[in-house]
Amino acid sequence: MQRRGLLIILSSPSGAGKSTLAKRLMAWDPTLKFSVSATTRAPRSGEEDGREYYFKTKEDFEELVKTNQMLEHAEVFGNYYGTPRGPVELAMTEGRDTLFDIDWQGGQQIRRSALGKDVVSIFILPPSIADLESRLRGRAQDSEEVIAGRMAKSRDEISHWAEYDYVIVNEDVDAAEEELKTILTAERARADRRPGLNEFVRGLNKEFEER
Ligand code: GDP
Ligand code: ADP
Ligand code: 5GP
Repeated sequence: MQRRGLLIILSSPSGAGKSTLAKRLMAWDPTLKFSVSATTRAPRSGEEDGREYYFKTKEDFEELVKTNQMLEHAEVFGNYYGTPRGPVELAMTEGRDTLFDIDWQGGQQIRRSALGKDVVSIFILPPSIADLESRLRGRAQDSEEVIAGRMAKSRDEISHWAEYDYVIVNEDVDAAEEELKTILTAERARADRRPGLNEFVRGLNKEFEER
C-alpha cells in the first residue's frame, strides 16, 4: 500500500548511542535508507568513504553548499557536516524511509523545510553524564582533546531535547532499540501518512456490496 517516505531523525550528544541504534534499526529493517552525510572531519579507523560519510575537503564541501546540493549543513565540533539532497529526494519519491544521524541544527533545518511534515524526530539521552563520558572513551576512537571538546558541547546539544517528537533514554541498549522500533512501527501506521488507504477501504466497501 502506497505510503509517503518518512524522514527519521536521530540526534543526541556525541556518545549517547545514535550510531549504535541506527545500525540496529537498519538491521531490523533493511528497506530503511541511511542518509550518508558529507563531512570535513577525518575518517576514524574502520570508516569507509561513502559508507559512514563522504569525506570531503573544506573546499569541496563549500562547493556542494554553493551549488545547492546540501539539504542542510552545519558546523559541529569545528568541522562541517551536511546532508546530500539527492538521495533523500529519491527515497521520498520511492516511498522509502530515510534515517538521519544529524545534530540539532540539522534537525531544525529539515523540520523547517518543505519536507518537515514527513519528519519523525527522536532525541537520544544518555542515562548520566558519567555514562556519556565513559562511552565516548570506550569507543576508543577519539583523542583526549576531541573527547573533551565533545563533552563540553554535550550540554548544549541536550538543551534541544524538547524540539523532538520522541525522547529515548539509552540506558539498556536492547530496551532503547525496542522503543525505537515501536516508534517507527506506530508512525508508519498513521492514517494521515497513508494516502493509499482510501483505495483500500473502497475495496472493502466493494466487497460489502458484493456479499
Ligand atoms: P565520493 O566522493 O567518493 O563519495 O564519490 P561519489 O561519486 O559517491 O560522490 C560524489 C559527490 O557527490 C560527493 O560530493 C558526494 O557527497 C555527492 N553525492 C553522493 N551521492 C549524492 C547524491 O545522491 N546526490 C547529491 N546531490 N550528491 C551526492
Ligand atoms: P554516537 O553515535 O551517539 O556518538 P555511539 O553509537 O558511537 O554514539 O556510542 C558510543 C559508545 O557507547 C559506543 O562504543 C557504543 O558501543 C556504546 N554504547 C551505545 N549504547 C550503549 C548502552 N546502552 N550501554 C552501553 N554502551 C553503549
Ligand atoms: P561524528 O563525528 O561523531 O560522526 O558526528 C558528530 C556530530 O555531527 C553528531 O552530532 C552527528 O549527529 C552530527 N552530524 C553528522 N552528520 C551530520 C549532517 O549531515 N548534518 C548535521 N547537521 N549534523 C551531522
